[in-house]
Amino acid sequence: MTDRRAALTETFMQALRDRTPQEDEFHQAVEEVVYDTITVEKNDPAFARARVLDRLSEPDRVVAFRVVWEDDTGAIQINRAWRVQTSNAIGPYKGGLRFHPTVNPSVLKFLGFEQVFKNALTGLPLGGGKGGSDFDPKGRSDAEIMRFCHALMAELCKYIGPDHDVPAGDINVGTREIGYLFGAYKQHRGQFHGALTGKGPSFGGSAMRVEATGYGLVYFAGHMLAQQNREKDGLRVAVSGAGNVATHAAEEALAQGAKVVSLSDSGGALVAEEGMSQDHINWVRQAKASGQGLDDAPDGLRYNAGAQPWGAVEAELLLPCATQNELDRDALQDAIDAGAKMIAEGANMPLTGGAVKLAQQKGLVHAPGKASNAGGVAISGLEMSQNAHGQYLSAETVRSRLKDIMGNIHQTVLAEADPRNGVPDYRQGANIAGYRKVAQAISAFGAI
Ligand code: NDP
Repeated sequence: MTDRRAALTETFMQALRDRTPQEDEFHQAVEEVVYDTITVEKNDPAFARARVLDRLSEPDRVVAFRVVWEDDTGAIQINRAWRVQTSNAIGPYKGGLRFHPTVNPSVLKFLGFEQVFKNALTGLPLGGGKGGSDFDPKGRSDAEIMRFCHALMAELCKYIGPDHDVPAGDINVGTREIGYLFGAYKQHRGQFHGALTGKGPSFGGSAMRVEATGYGLVYFAGHMLAQQNREKDGLRVAVSGAGNVATHAAEEALAQGAKVVSLSDSGGALVAEEGMSQDHINWVRQAKASGQGLDDAPDGLRYNAGAQPWGAVEAELLLPCATQNELDRDALQDAIDAGAKMIAEGANMPLTGGAVKLAQQKGLVHAPGKASNAGGVAISGLEMSQNAHGQYLSAETVRSRLKDIMGNIHQTVLAEADPRNGVPDYRQGANIAGYRKVAQAISAFGAI
């Protein structure tokens, strides 16, 4: 069985690599899903005939465009931007926008592909997509960021809409950027409707959207811990990143009695042997919001310039919340030597292929982002329905819906997760459960 699976996967991947050369991140994301689902597809005549995996690994379309804007000196700046619309099999395209110099079609195709499965797991009618630009907001003024967002939306507005494609935020795209983007969308289209999520509360945003990914991650990790009969109280948790997902995950882990022993950014890691306080987390947020590094750390935090948090401090649960491939095999070995037993991904695809294999060999309990970080898109889904009905839910109600959704995702994934080295294979469970839902829709549509 495994040999057949490996052979089928290799044939599939060779064809993909041949037609999409140099798209390493995309290949990495597809290979993981194909390995877990290709025999499910081959063993189901309707799925096999529909060639679901072949169809999903070719986005419905990729829109590429130029963004021209003026910087504060009056000089013309030119960036590249894309919207990848991967699949609308079960609902409108849905996925964030990322602004980072590393953004390229491979990164966005991997993110759009993962989003299809993640969105299916939420139980909401959401297809998958992703977009963004190679624009680097570091060191840019607020006025420059506004002009860039307005220029980007002047083109993007032609390809999105509430029943068609609904972007949200991602790395370097938060409430401020969504405000600028929504203002431009409204201006160009002359319509006020929910074509973006993550909006401010005064113009259609949902309560708890900002917190949803990080808090949802901690709710999911809580179910993993309960499944392993482990306690949250006093659990040592290493978090990477210092942005939206990382700081909200740290805040909720702290609120639930865990000890948060690290945060980090692209410049280095902050370590707290005795655990961080809410004041420490607030300081990190403040430092990042004002464009500073994390080096001038207050008492109780140690800053390691150029370092990652993995292995720098004892921790049982790892929450990688920065970016793709941030945790490689050597770093994971260091973390295991420092006590790591479980991983719940806040970022998308934060582990390299080598780290995933090591986690499996060592019997770590490991949840993939498409399950454990789905809380953000789930609340975006609720934002869409609140916009459509013009009725808004309280923070308490949204929080309770978020808890229910994360619990349901955990159950759905666990039901398809075979044991591997004595622990449930959450990765396989998420891939198969997401695949089945999308495959049923695609195979119902016929050859289209
Ligand atoms: P933010 O922009 O708020 O924060 C990103 C953080 O990651 C920053 O601290 C940044 O450091 C750090 N980072 C980025 N690139 C690197 C790198 N190459 N090496 C080390 N650190 C890096 O983004 P989010 O918190 O929104 O997103 C984080 C991850 O979570 C991403 O993978 C995203 O796709 C995923 N995600 C986000 C969701 C959301 O709702 N926002 C939903 C689901 C997943 P620095 O400031 O120094 O650049």
